[in-house]
Amino acid sequence: MYLTQGLHRAVQQHPDDVMTVFGDRTRTFAEVADRVGRLAAALQGLGVGSGDRVAMLSLNSDRFGEYLLAVPWADAVLNPVNIRWSPAEIAYSLQDSDTGVLLVDDTFAPMLPALREAAPGLRTVIHAGDGPTPDGAESYEDLIAGHDPVPDARRGGDALAGLFYTGGTTGHPKGVMLSHANLMVSALGILSTGYLFGSGTRCLHAAPMFHLADMAAWNATTAAGGAHVIVPAFEPVAVMNAIATHGATDSLLVPVMIQMLIDHPQIAEHDLTSLRAVLYGASPIAQSVLERAMKAFPNADFTQAYGMTELSPVATLLSPDDHRRGDRLRSAGRAAPHSEVLVVDAEDDEVPRGTVGEIVALGGHVMLGYWNQPEATAAAVRDGWMHTGDGGYMDDDGYVFVVDRIKDMIVSGGENVYSAEVENALATHPAVASCAVIGVPDDQWGERVHAVVVLRADQTVTAEELREHAKTRIAGYKAPRSAEFVDALPVSAAGKILKRELRAAHWSEGDREVH
Ligand code: ATP
Ligand code: MG
Repeated sequence: MYLTQGLHRAVQQHPDDVMTVFGDRTRTFAEVADRVGRLAAALQGLGVGSGDRVAMLSLNSDRFGEYLLAVPWADAVLNPVNIRWSPAEIAYSLQDSDTGVLLVDDTFAPMLPALREAAPGLRTVIHAGDGPTPDGAESYEDLIAGHDPVPDARRGGDALAGLFYTGGTTGHPKGVMLSHANLMVSALGILSTGYLFGSGTRCLHAAPMFHLADMAAWNATTAAGGAHVIVPAFEPVAVMNAIATHGATDSLLVPVMIQMLIDHPQIAEHDLTSLRAVLYGASPIAQSVLERAMKAFPNADFTQAYGMTELSPVATLLSPDDHRRGDRLRSAGRAAPHSEVLVVDAEDDEVPRGTVGEIVALGGHVMLGYWNQPEATAAAVRDGWMHTGDGGYMDDDGYVFVVDRIKDMIVSGGENVYSAEVENALATHPAVASCAVIGVPDDQWGERVHAVVVLRADQTVTAEELREHAKTRIAGYKAPRSAEFVDALPVSAAGKILKRELRAAHWSEGDREVH
């Protein structure tokens, strides 16, 4: 199994069909394969050897897709860079991963002087943009024009395919080493369900392509010989236009994106009927948002994925049928075809169904390990099982319910309170646009359940009213005892709410240990 296999099959079977659409630029499968072979040749010509890391710092583009194929083609290792990182963080990751070659687009080219200074190991920069090539950088298009294609290395299986840094939601991002087999097992597992990225797919890439969630959609679509419609970044109107203009059929969207789309005043003006499958995940979704989304996209089958970078990234799926039945919308679904999933206690014994423990997963999608962090790897992968750090429970039919990150769990008055449940209760209040629930220090309760709330335009509500509303849905001790109102919640590039930032305002550093 190797990342480029679907491309070869597509070239054999339908070379002249369109593979990538980016703005007004389209390329066929044969054209992309030719360019990928040339880019691989150029990388090798620049001294990229087997197993060397090649980074890309870029908004979404058709060239990002070519990078995802050319690097494995050249037998090198992908290292997509989180576009939200500061220059210092990017330089740190380039040094940490010993990456000598970086592709950069027009948006991020201005960062180059700072990166070069802070990451002396960076020896070659390739400018993968349409503007003028910055000083000292190679031009992507000149490199492609100047090289003949090399044959695909076709090295797959357990060979390292990429280094993918975790979201950094809970702390310093870790470099996750994934093999070709890891990534392909996850992609083929998703495909085998039959309801995502199948034949005739035109996959819309609106989530950041550096993130493994979108790369999973890229890999599954490419494995199935489908096409890609790419927008530079998520922007509601651009996304709705891309769907309407290019007939996008399938997309990976994270919950904040779904919420921004359904709340957008122009949604009714766009023809979104081509969209037949929406895969969402990466963070919890409020049930009320999901129910509205299913109405807003009446032709779309909804699938939820739960997983993490370390699981390449999919572990469970909530199927379209489950969505239609409607009674399990709070679940993240059941173990995906390629995964086994259990809920265990601190001794790694399975807990009874319905009891909260740590979610663990086993299968060909479990990472090779964390880059340069053998202790962290040994702590996370035990007996082959990836310990997710997520708290959850499983019902009698094998449906997994994610309740909280274990690090985020709130203990108030000796009772465990899981933020997901409280957030769901608050989200049903008509004045609440979005919210996050955290534990804050409290003399009486140890930790107090505290809500950070973004209100809908022109709406007001008091903390007390929110508490009363929550109490109609959940037990009194879980209802927030305090609330603050903010304009927006801090989110990561993958749309995850950064609770550690919210907590920082309430806890002095080192005050709150993980329990
Ligand atoms: P870091 O590990 O650096 O803190 P991160 O965990 O956010 O960052 P990712 O690997 O991108 O980095 O995210 C995986 C996490 O996202 C999971 O551990 C889980 O907490 C959350 N998650 C993913 N899918 C879902 C889902 N469907 N429902 C709820 N949470 C989800
Ligand atoms: Mg994580």
